[in-house]
Formats: sequence, C-alpha cells, structure tokens
Amino acid sequence: MARVGENQLPQAHHLLLFPCPFQGHLNPMLQLATLLHSKGFSITIVHTQFNSPNPSNFSNFHFEIIPDGLSDGLHPMDILSIINVNCAAPFRAVLARMLSDNRRGPITCVITDDVLSFTQSITDSLKVPRIVLVTCNATSYVTISSIPMLHQKGYYPIEDPNSEVPVPEIPPLRVKDLPVPPPSTVGTFLQLIVRQISATRASSGLIFNALDCLEQTTLSKIQQEFRIPVFPIGPLYKFAAGHSGSSSLLSPDHSCMAWLAKQAPKSVIYVSFGSIAAIDGPDLLEMAWGLANSGQPFLWVVRPGFVNGSECAAELPEGFEEETRDRGLVVKWAPQQEVLSHPSVGGFWTHGGWNSTLESVCEGVPMLCWPCFMDQAGNARLVSHVWRVGMTLENGLERCEIDWAIRRLMVGNEGKEMRERIKDLKENVDRSIRKGGSSHQSLDALIDLISSF
Ligand code: UDP
Repeated sequence: MARVGENQLPQAHHLLLFPCPFQGHLNPMLQLATLLHSKGFSITIVHTQFNSPNPSNFSNFHFEIIPDGLSDGLHPMDILSIINVNCAAPFRAVLARMLSDNRRGPITCVITDDVLSFTQSITDSLKVPRIVLVTCNATSYVTISSIPMLHQKGYYPIEDPNSEVPVPEIPPLRVKDLPVPPPSTVGTFLQLIVRQISATRASSGLIFNALDCLEQTTLSKIQQEFRIPVFPIGPLYKFAAGHSGSSSLLSPDHSCMAWLAKQAPKSVIYVSFGSIAAIDGPDLLEMAWGLANSGQPFLWVVRPGFVNGSECAAELPEGFEEETRDRGLVVKWAPQQEVLSHPSVGGFWTHGGWNSTLESVCEGVPMLCWPCFMDQAGNARLVSHVWRVGMTLENGLERCEIDWAIRRLMVGNEGKEMRERIKDLKENVDRSIRKGGSSHQSLDALIDLISSF
C-alpha cells in the first residue's frame, strides 16, 4: 500500500482493536479507534462481556463480544488476571476467523491494551502484527517496568508507604509515589507486570496517550529501552473530538451544564475520583464538610459504589444539602471533558487517574490531587512537583485541610500561579496536535507503520 498522506486514505486496511474493560482504558482505545477510522481504516472492536462498550454509539465499527468467565465482586487486579487466561481461546478464534474475513477485508494489524499480554503469543502464532496501546503516561510506564527490578533488589513491595525517600531509578518519584496494590494481590500484580513487559517488548510498536511536551526525556528513555517504535499521540480525546461516540459506562448527567452556565467564570471546583476509586464512609463526611466549609461553588460526582460497602448512591451527611444548596451540585456521573472545558470551572479535585489528569491539563484547569491507588500518586507528583500546576493532599482526607487546600487552589495566589503555568502547558498541548506538532507527527508515523503491514 502507498504511503498515507493527508488526502490518501488506506481504505483496504482492517484493524482489530481490543480494549481492557475499565473506563480509563476503554475511553482512549475507542478514541484511538475513532481517530484511525477517520483516517480511512476499517475497525473491529473485540471486547469482553464485562463492561461492554455500547456498539450503538459507534455505528461505523464492527463489534465482536467474547466470553470472559468473570464473576461479580472481583478486585480489578483479579479481573485482569482472569481475562488474561479466560479470553485467550475466544480471542484466538475471533482473530483466526477475521484474518480471512472477505466482507470487511482481512485484519492487517491488531492493537491491544498493554495489560492484555496474552494476545502477543496469539498474534505471533497467527502471524499478524500487534501494536500496544499504553493508557497510562510514560512516567508510570517506566515505574511499572522498573517494579520487577525493585522487587529483585528487595525494595518492593515497599515497607513504608509514607516514605519520602527518592527512588533514584525513577526520578522524580519517591517511595510513597510507587503503586501499592492490596497485599493479597501483590503476587498477581508482579506476575501481570512481568508478562506485560515481555509481551510489549515482542510487539511491533508502542502507542502512548501521552505527549512529548509533557514527558520528552521519559519517552526517549522508553524508546531506547524497548527498541520498538514509540508513538506518543496524546491527547487522544482531542484528536478524536467531534467524531467520537460515547464509551461512558454510566450515563452522564448533562443537567450540570445548565447549572455551570449560571456560575461565575473560574469559580467552580469540579470534584471526581474517576470510575473505580472508592472511599470509606467517614472520608465521605470529611469530603462533604471540607467542600461545604470552603465556601466555593462545587460540582461533585458521587458515583454509585463510591463509598466502600455500598453499591447504590452514597448518603450525604445531614445538613449538607441545606448548607450548600445555593452553590453546590452533586451528580452521579458527569460529561467530564465538557465540564472541564466550561469557563465556570476553575479547579479540579481529582484522584489523579491519567485520563482525568490529561483532560485537566488539556483544558487548562489546575488540580488538587488525592491519589487513591496504582499510578495516581506518580501522576500527582508530576502535577505538583514537575509541572507545578496543582497540589496534593498528602495527609488523608480531613475537612480542615480540604477546606484550606480548596481555597488555596481557587482563590489564593498559589492557585493563580498554577493557572498561569497550566495555561502555558495547554498551549504546548494545542501546538502538539496541530500539523507539524509532535503528536501529529507521531500519528503520521503510526499510520505509515500500520500501512506498511
Ligand atoms: N469520567 C466521566 N465522568 C465522570 C467521571 C469520569 O466521563 O463523572 C471519565 C473521565 O473523563 C476519564 C475517565 O472517566 O476519561 C476516568 O479515567 P481516569 O484514568 O481518570 O480514572 P479511572 O477511572 O481509570 O480511575
């Protein structure tokens, strides 16, 4: 096939994409699919029964569902581990069938989430190239790939999760910024990482929902270490904007947009801890009263299941609604990217998931981070200490500290400086995705690679 230029699209290439079934992984994979479809590729999405995306939101794609054998109530780490075993045979069967699909054209390349390591040996044996999508950032990826080495040296699992000692192998992280899975899942975690890294080394390329302008040194380090082409093409949601259907697993409450429209510019703090993080009941009280006492307008996402031990909507403390009725809104799920881009939003209290962090940077909204698990502490470190576009609640959830931090972010001089710095970052991001920018060039290079298969 000829080289793909702006006006010359590879109609014949049929790609099979396989996302990991968590919200923070589904979103970037479906955004990537949308982007590649807009460049002329035809797309099949293979997905599990668990957290299945809604095919009717993506009428241009073909969907193939495969059984996963998952039961209810499993920890995400166990879900990953089970998928990596149970989905192997069904995935092989679907891919083998689609390799000779004459209606849509044979599959020429498979793109899977990097955590689906079992797919590498299957694509190898069926002789189809596999490219990997990493949905965390480059710093988190280096962290994850260093964990087997830290384990060998006896530094991991870490003994003191509050240690401020730097990890020299992964600047600028400290011991407390490393991912700490629950003790019962450490073995599974290590096993998953070792397989993931070795499968990625054997793949044909590595796509990051990350950007050169945010992590250039780390991305170069990965390029040197992995010796496969690396394509930082973030932010995917910006590239896919206007073309993408919704991959949201919960229905966003759009009524909050009308509420936001009534608020003063940059006055609202948006609060959301993503799709998985959950807190204990007493922490919910501290959050609620911290928000109320800060006196700032807020939009707070309290997802069903946000409080440990309760699958349904969380009960907010007595008196909270009365106290905050005039300046607060609580929703179950928000159209987050729209919210962050709204002129009334001046701050984001986030758990520091990579999608949320990137969306906040792209919309120029400074952050208050309260990292909960995995890569979130490392992301908070980048936000607070490297880019200096936010601050981190380091000492748990306590209403006085929350109240003070929100005021510093929303009305203090520190917040003003962060807002200036994040404006500069946003401009760099905007440049990266324009023609000639680093993410745009990486995308062209990725399309060239896929077209060469
Ligand atoms: N999100 C959303 N509405 C909400 C909360 C989150 O649409 O009310 C989206 C958010 O825009 C992001 C994703 O869910 O794209 C969460 O991913 P992230 O990596 O931030 O966190 P995770 O859910 O994986 O912990």
